[in-house]
Amino acid sequence: MISIRGLKKSYGKLDVLKGIDLDVHSGEKVVVIGPSGSGKSTMLRCINGLEDPDEGTITMNGVEITSRRTNMNKVRERLGMVFQRFNLWPHKTVAENVMLGQMVVGHRTKAEARARALEMLRRVGLEEKADVYPVTLSGGQQQRVGIARALAMNPDAILFDEPTSALDPELVGEVLSVMKKLAEEGMTMIVVTHEIGFAREVADHVIFMDGGVIVEQGTPEEVLEHPKEERTRGFLKRVL
Ligand code: ADP
Ligand code: MG
Repeated sequence: MISIRGLKKSYGKLDVLKGIDLDVHSGEKVVVIGPSGSGKSTMLRCINGLEDPDEGTITMNGVEITSRRTNMNKVRERLGMVFQRFNLWPHKTVAENVMLGQMVVGHRTKAEARARALEMLRRVGLEEKADVYPVTLSGGQQQRVGIARALAMNPDAILFDEPTSALDPELVGEVLSVMKKLAEEGMTMIVVTHEIGFAREVADHVIFMDGGVIVEQGTPEEVLEHPKEERTRGFLKRVL
């Protein structure tokens, strides 16, 4: 579904991505781990077109999204994104937050968007919070709204960038369990996270990035239990 070849990105003299190759198949769950500054967020931002790569190609469902001729709005409609900070609109209700993209980008009527918002809020266990404002919710609940908002666009895949890193420890579990449910339902997911337990349980494929390259990749068993590379072992020792 998503195919990345020779992806390179620099900011001035800083080479952040030094040639990334990655394939994500439909229904696959890819977990990306690696130290801070290794280029994980930059890679996700290149995939959903928030950054222009310097070199390389990214194709999604056979369409090269790195081509200037491709309408990135169309691509972004097909890709959900969940950020570390939930970025909910504070002056809009929970339901309105989930409706907005559907109406502006998805061209749904208000009634259609509301019906779908309620359905997605039900999927993340927050239907009863539809008409309150985000400030009244816990961080974990706000992040679940962020996931409902991504789901509402009916994406082909969802990219998660450290979705639980900004949460108090006791709120991490509720967000991970919503993500596990999505995974079981067959959603294609790329998840950047330091939650090794989640990677072990949910990932089909684990990528370890460091210094702008994929140092090691494979099944959770291969990368997390029997890492071949010294850098992977050192990183795992630090996060486990
Ligand atoms: P990670 O998500 O793995 O922590 P990032 O992709 O956020 O890593 O960042 C990789 C490196 O690129 C870091 O050194 C960061 O400071 C730098 N960087 C990221 N975005 C920008 C930007 N817009 N301008 C300049 N430097 C950036
Ligand atoms: Mg990051």
